[in-house]
Amino acid sequence: MPWVQIGLALAVLSAIAWIVFLVGQRARVVERNRRALADEAEAARLRDRREERIPGGNPRHPIEVASAAVVEPRASSLPCPRCASPAHVDTHEVETHEGRRLRVVNMKCGTCSHRRPLYFFVRSSEIRRDANELN
Ligand SMILES: [Zn+2]
Repeated sequence: MPWVQIGLALAVLSAIAWIVFLVGQRARVVERNRRALADEAEAARLRDRREERIPGGNPRHPIEVASAAVVEPRASSLPCPRCASPAHVDTHEVETHEGRRLRVVNMKCGTCSHRRPLYFFVRSSEIRRDANELN
């Protein structure tokens, strides 16, 4: 008779141990996924910061060009910073940043579809504005 009770106790103990093992395994998977997502977000943040430091990646340090006509060819000549494939001009707008008129070219990579803005400063636009202010 005690053998039956010992057997039942062992069965219950092994079932509890199995449940504890499964819960622990699930918790490890959840933790690993959470860490992978955090690492991915950190890598994306570092990539964005690196792209901002590339000339033209930030309105504070635009690429200087002599004429607006060379903005799009110049932008198209720059490869995608993520995969080094050719990128093409998506939109081309004029914006004012800190009192300076900048050309903002939104680029889209043909391979990885990464989008990023490129900022250009047209030297002739500044000269024209100075001439207008004098008149
Ligand atoms: Zn790309």
